Amino acid sequence: MTEPRLRVTEIFRSIQGESTRAGFPCAFIRLTGCSLRCVWCDSAYAFHGGSDMALPEAVDRVLALGTDLVEVTGGEPLEQDAVYPLMERLLAAGKTVLLETGGHVLLDRVDPRVVKIVDVKAPGSGMQQAALVENLGLLQPHDELKFVLADRRDFDWSLAMVRERNLDAGRAVTFSPAWETLAPGELAEWVRDCGRRIRLGLQLHKVLWGDVPGR
Ligand code: SF4
Repeated sequence: MTEPRLRVTEIFRSIQGESTRAGFPCAFIRLTGCSLRCVWCDSAYAFHGGSDMALPEAVDRVLALGTDLVEVTGGEPLEQDAVYPLMERLLAAGKTVLLETGGHVLLDRVDPRVVKIVDVKAPGSGMQQAALVENLGLLQPHDELKFVLADRRDFDWSLAMVRERNLDAGRAVTFSPAWETLAPGELAEWVRDCGRRIRLGLQLHKVLWGDVPGR
C-alpha cells in the first residue's frame, strides 16, 4: 500500500512555548501551507516550500527527537490529509500529541486523544471571518483556546466572547500579544484585571531565542 505523504517545513526539538504545557521539552513538526493570512502571522515562512516526505519518515524523525510531548503545527496542519494518520501514529507510539490549528478547518476528524490548541481569530488578525464557530462545540475539556491580540480592541472583543460563551469554564483560555503591536506588560495588566479565568501567554520560545525558525 502506498504510504500517505506530507509537505514538511521543519522538524525540531525545542521548548513548548504557548500552551498550559509551556516550558516542557517538545518535538515539533511544522507542516507546510496555510490558506489564511493573519496580519501578525509568525510562521509565514511555512506558507510555501517545504520537503515532500513519506509518513513513516516523518514519524521516525519526530520520534528520534526523544520527547514525551509532540506538537503538530504549521502553517495549518489540518489542510493536509496525511496529518490524521500522522497524529494517530504518534499517539500509538505513546506520545502526548498537541495540535496547533487556526480554527478554520473542522475538527471532527481529529482523534479525541489529541490535545487541540485552537486559535480564535480576533478582528486584528484580519481573518475573523474564517473562524468556524462549529469548532467550539467540538472541543473536549483537555483542549485549549488561544486568542492572539493586536490591540485593546482585540482584547475587548475576545473578553466579550469569553463572557458570552463562558469559554473559560473548565478549559484553558490563553490571551497572547501580537508582539509587533501590543506590549506584553500592557496585556498582562488587562488580563490581571479582567475577572475571568484567562491565562497570559508569552510565547516562551520568543522570549528565550527571538522570532527565529526552528526554535
Ligand atoms: S492560521 Fe496560523 S499559519 Fe495560517 S496565517 Fe494564521 S497564524 Fe499564520
